Amino acid sequence: MKTHYDMIAIGAGSGGLSAVERASEYGKKCAIIEMKTIGGTCVNVGCVPKKVMWYAANTAATINNASGFGFEVGSVDFSWIKLKQGRDNYIRGITTWYDGHLKSLGIDYIKGFGQLIDNNTVSVNGQQITADHIVLSPGSTPFVPNIEGGEFGITSNGFFELTDLPKKVAIVGGGFIAVELAGMLNSLGSDVTLIIRSNNLLNGFDAMVVDTLTKEYQKQGIAIVPNTDISKLDSNGNIHCNNGILEGFDEVIWAMGRSPMTNDIGLETIGLTTDSKGFIQTDKYQQTNIKGIYAIGDATGRAALTPVAIAAGRRLSDRLFNGMSDRHLNYDNIPSVVFSHPPIGTVGLSEKEARAKFKDIKIYQSSFTPMADALLEHQMQTALKLICAGDDEKVIGCHIIGEGADEMLQGFAVAIKMGATKSQLDDTVAIHPTSSEELVTLR
Ligand SMILES: Cc1cc2nc3c(=O)[nH]c(=O)nc-3n(C[C@H](O)[C@H](O)[C@H](O)COP(=O)(O)OP(=O)(O)OC[C@H]3O[C@@H](n4cnc5c(N)ncnc54)[C@H](O)[C@@H]3O)c2cc1C
Repeated sequence: MKTHYDMIAIGAGSGGLSAVERASEYGKKCAIIEMKTIGGTCVNVGCVPKKVMWYAANTAATINNASGFGFEVGSVDFSWIKLKQGRDNYIRGITTWYDGHLKSLGIDYIKGFGQLIDNNTVSVNGQQITADHIVLSPGSTPFVPNIEGGEFGITSNGFFELTDLPKKVAIVGGGFIAVELAGMLNSLGSDVTLIIRSNNLLNGFDAMVVDTLTKEYQKQGIAIVPNTDISKLDSNGNIHCNNGILEGFDEVIWAMGRSPMTNDIGLETIGLTTDSKGFIQTDKYQQTNIKGIYAIGDATGRAALTPVAIAAGRRLSDRLFNGMSDRHLNYDNIPSVVFSHPPIGTVGLSEKEARAKFKDIKIYQSSFTPMADALLEHQMQTALKLICAGDDEKVIGCHIIGEGADEMLQGFAVAIKMGATKSQLDDTVAIHPTSSEELVTLR
């Protein structure tokens, strides 16, 4: 006999878990299917282990900078394997917690590969289960280029499996994952080369943060090789490209984007629409072209971030099961942080996007050495920019690069989401001495 649910989610990452958790809070009977490890990308091979590594890299930087504050620490030992074991234990604790959490909510957790059979039926482990509502939340996977020797490289997944710090590493890609890995590995002691196809890092980000990070990384000794097309990676770690041969890397990390995990999950069987890359198309309510089937998270190709997947999943269940008929996620003004060294915080439009959209914009910006670095030999710049539009100077973009940007942005993102104007920021009394006070005193 088939088991019938109110909601089934395929994929137990940030999005799928949030949808079924919220649905179960409304008393609904739910199941969630996962083929790998509960928690998905964020918990296992994304945000969480990445942030642990970022903290480790910051610790290395603090030790290197300690003499500026009078501490002579001498040489210190660093054990990558100890760091990895600690990080893996931490993550095991989270995934173990999830098992109990789902049980306590009465959600059936099914380990296996989920596949759509028809509009209400999912097959898993040779069994069929049905639901009134099916949520597709299969996420995405790192893209590996289809070139000779592509298999000699690793991806961000492989980075988290490394048992030693690579001495000389090439990171191929210029997106947020590439620049994060570059900053961490460099800070922990690798010789890092960033290889990018275009001219710039971080396409789509405001030029101020891109320029500041590029200069900063070069100053820190990261080699940036732009305008590069790779044709081959050989087994000795040599990269063959239009710029000749880049030689002798211990590891090459492909960080060239991610592909949706939408192959083989039965989308063609039921005629569900995707774009040419396989990302599932939805309307603003996360509704696909098939009634009763929804998609959330990375597999939809929009703002691939954990809080976005979570927010979309929760709102979907609010709408389906709590009578909130217009509840949906507004994808405007989503704040995000790049955990580079220094970090970047950004919300709203870049200056380029703002100029294309509005006639009348005003830019406020500042660049300075933060007090935290004043006594240090290796100082990192902080740069801030507010982009305002219209007579009332509504803030439509805020971009920050510098120490603390990661924690600084959230509060400003609330104000900007609420429609704050420049004069309202100016009316806010500054907190001194901080870097964030500059955002309420820009002239
Ligand atoms: C290195 C890295 C760093 C990141 N850092 C950040 C960060 O700092 N902040 C941030 O907000 N975001 C970050 N992200 C992005 C974030 O991890 C994703 O946006 C988020 O995990 C997306 O959630 P999701 O539910 O859509 O997919 P996922 O979390 O990927 O979950 C999908 C799950 O579905 C499973 N699955 C797929 N197909 C099937 C199937 N047919 N049957 C059963 N199970 C299936 C997969 O195994 C996976 O566990 C990072 C990503 C990476 C790779």
